[in-house]
Amino acid sequence: MTSGVEIGALRVDLVPEVRYRLMPRAFLFPDLIHEDAARNADWIGPRHLHPETLAVGMAFQAYLIRARGQNILVDTCNGNHKPRPHAPWQDDMRAHTFLTSLADLGLRPEDIHIVLCTHLHTDHVGWNTRLVDGRWVPTFPNARYVMNKAEYDHFAALVGTEGSRYAHIEDSVLPVVDAGQAEMVSDTAEIISEIGEEVFLSPSPGHSPGHVCIHARANGAEAVISGDAIHHPIQLDMPDLVMRADGDAALAAQSRRAVMEHCAGTSALLCAGHIPDWSFARVHEGGRAFRLDPL
Ligand SMILES: [Zn+2]
Repeated sequence: MTSGVEIGALRVDLVPEVRYRLMPRAFLFPDLIHEDAARNADWIGPRHLHPETLAVGMAFQAYLIRARGQNILVDTCNGNHKPRPHAPWQDDMRAHTFLTSLADLGLRPEDIHIVLCTHLHTDHVGWNTRLVDGRWVPTFPNARYVMNKAEYDHFAALVGTEGSRYAHIEDSVLPVVDAGQAEMVSDTAEIISEIGEEVFLSPSPGHSPGHVCIHARANGAEAVISGDAIHHPIQLDMPDLVMRADGDAALAAQSRRAVMEHCAGTSALLCAGHIPDWSFARVHEGGRAFRLDPL
């Protein structure tokens, strides 16, 4: 199981918050049937997909890109103390794993220069803020928080319309904006653009309206941090399998397939943080569509 890789002169490391949690099938894939699990049992074991219960193994993990002296954190998982009454698995978490994972990489919150958000769902923005004296304040005081403007505009307009469903925008996104640390960009923005060394966004809409993938590319090698474009290995075999929270299922499937085709066609590493153990993997054609080769 790999926890970090060199991409040319860049480095990409895993930042786990929850390394493994078994979720009921309906949490991810209401349409998944036993036949799908049986067909893939030779490469997807029971830890990732239980053949009888169809329970799915999930992780909640961010990535850290180190490039040109910049510490770039991609996504921030669930966060602590966040009131999530409709999601018991993330409600009022009190875990120290996320900041400990960063400390294991030699970094304090003050050392993060950039936070990149693949999208603004609750399990990807949690550690954007933390609770200090009853107020939500940016966890990373020296970081600029870079978000796709279309994604931000979509969710900011929904705050207050459906009660707690958008509470995570209020407690994990707006405080960063209020602190003057947010930077809204396009879905193709370049974060680092040097000859032979690039970090940039690419559009992968569907799961959410402005979802982006993050690419780290250097010296001919590449890693793609895919956010929620891909949740589980079964989607390599079934790219059209709808994930329950896909906002636009058809568009999400199109984006998911495009990410897999890109990785398979270029040998780019797929970094899918919700997949336990296989969080760095190569993609190749196989089965009904694709297969994963974990590093
Ligand atoms: Zn997610």
